Amino acid sequence: MLIMIKPSADEAQVAAIKSFVEDLGLRAIESQIRKQLAIAAIGDQDVAPNGLIESLPGVEHVLPIHKPYKLASREFHPDNRVVSVRHIPIGGDAIQVIAGPCSVETPEQMLAAAAGAMTAGASLLRGGAFKPRTSPYSFQGMEEEGLKYLADAARPHGMPVVTELMDPRDIDLFFKYGVDVIQIGTRNMQNFRLLKEVGQLQVPVILKRGLSATIKEWLMAAEYIAAQGNLNIILAERGVRSFESAYRNMLDVSAIPYLKRETHLPVIVDPSHAGGAAWMVPALSLAAIAAGADGLMIECHPNPAQAWSDGEQALTPQELHALTRQVAAVAQASGRTYGQSLIDLPKAS
Ligand code: PEP
Ligand code: MN
Repeated sequence: MLIMIKPSADEAQVAAIKSFVEDLGLRAIESQIRKQLAIAAIGDQDVAPNGLIESLPGVEHVLPIHKPYKLASREFHPDNRVVSVRHIPIGGDAIQVIAGPCSVETPEQMLAAAAGAMTAGASLLRGGAFKPRTSPYSFQGMEEEGLKYLADAARPHGMPVVTELMDPRDIDLFFKYGVDVIQIGTRNMQNFRLLKEVGQLQVPVILKRGLSATIKEWLMAAEYIAAQGNLNIILAERGVRSFESAYRNMLDVSAIPYLKRETHLPVIVDPSHAGGAAWMVPALSLAAIAAGADGLMIECHPNPAQAWSDGEQALTPQELHALTRQVAAVAQASGRTYGQSLIDLPKAS
């Protein structure tokens, strides 16, 4: 439920309302609803005695949150949430691009990837050090060494880094190497223990959609993270499994406007794992931005033919550069801006 606080309520009254909620075994989380303070009481609502909360001093009225994903819903937070990754806002008016290789391979590959991504107009660097591969005999990632190569490559450019966490036992390593955004991959979208662990951090999390997850299941997975106190969640649509086998996955473009209506969380799109082919990435990227996505996560490798994983879907830095200019144009046409200021934006007429 949402407890709307009277504008005249003082701090002591707000604190008393929160303790009352917490004493019931519920979580009390603040939100702003059309500039009015509200406290969301989250948990088993049956424990709240009828009418008692309404009678507390400072309470204006109590509203139900109808959606099962309480904290992820727009009812809880009507405004768009902007997740800040160091100096970079995700979910505001500016479109952000995250780029980098599928896997971290060598220091040289990562240095070239970071320079290429930066020059091409990306504002964050990605690279997997722990790889969830279909076959146990495929390359599994460089693990700790990979986190180091990723951090070393990003540092000279001041780029925040995004990398996938598969096991909570690696969280300390992620802190050691200063990972800025934790990616929860498709295969772990419903790994609830993992979701609870990242929920206890304040690090931004990219939550990728499960291979066959419905939007409701996906938002409930986000709720697991939010319920632990971490609302720095970015949803990533990356294509779903369908009857179609002509391409890797089917990009669910419809999910983008649907999510933007249903949740306050930023929504980004990964066109690389959706199409599974480099030639499809530009069209899917532009469609995603036109549909309202807040950003893109694109695989980009200095030498795709030599990539240790997902080379067929990786753009070269030159291809990414050409694409980001088009992305900037679509962003501008839809009343938004392009995040990376180094790029020459076409002048608005
Ligand atoms: C990835 O981003 O490299 C990845 C493995 O993605 P997904 O979890 O979407 O398959
Ligand atoms: Mn990949």
